[in-house]
Amino acid sequence: MELLQKKLKEKRIRPSFHRIKILKYLDRHRTHPTVDEIYEALVKEVPSLSKTTVYNTLELFSKKGIIGNLTISGSEKRYDFENKAHSHFLCKKCGKIFDIDKVDCPCENNRAVRGHKIDEVHLYFKGVCKSCLM
Ligand SMILES: [Zn+2]
Ligand SMILES: [Zn+2]
Repeated sequence: MELLQKKLKEKRIRPSFHRIKILKYLDRHRTHPTVDEIYEALVKEVPSLSKTTVYNTLELFSKKGIIGNLTISGSEKRYDFENKAHSHFLCKKCGKIFDIDKVDCPCENNRAVRGHKIDEVHLYFKGVCKSCLM
């Protein structure tokens, strides 16, 4: 069985044609794309696809922990094939988002901060990337 299909079945998600297409796109484009980017890229190849389907599928994948999501640049939600804990760096010049290895956050080991229970920790870095610095 294909790896992506297995990934979905493990989480009891039916590996439909559209779902596999969307997951495959994320796997091949580790650029943290938005719903719009994924839709625009896939609809040429899969005309039966709607933006709602793309959105709902990505939300389902996120909820089940198959993929990650982030809102590093304003209000636009981006999706991430990598679902393990890691941080992100946003280049203010080219707008690219890079994966950064997990950086330890002092509040992560305690599962509460000032009495509030922590479920997720998002660490965002912003600046100028290596290639824009050159
Ligand atoms: Zn840059
Ligand atoms: Zn990432």
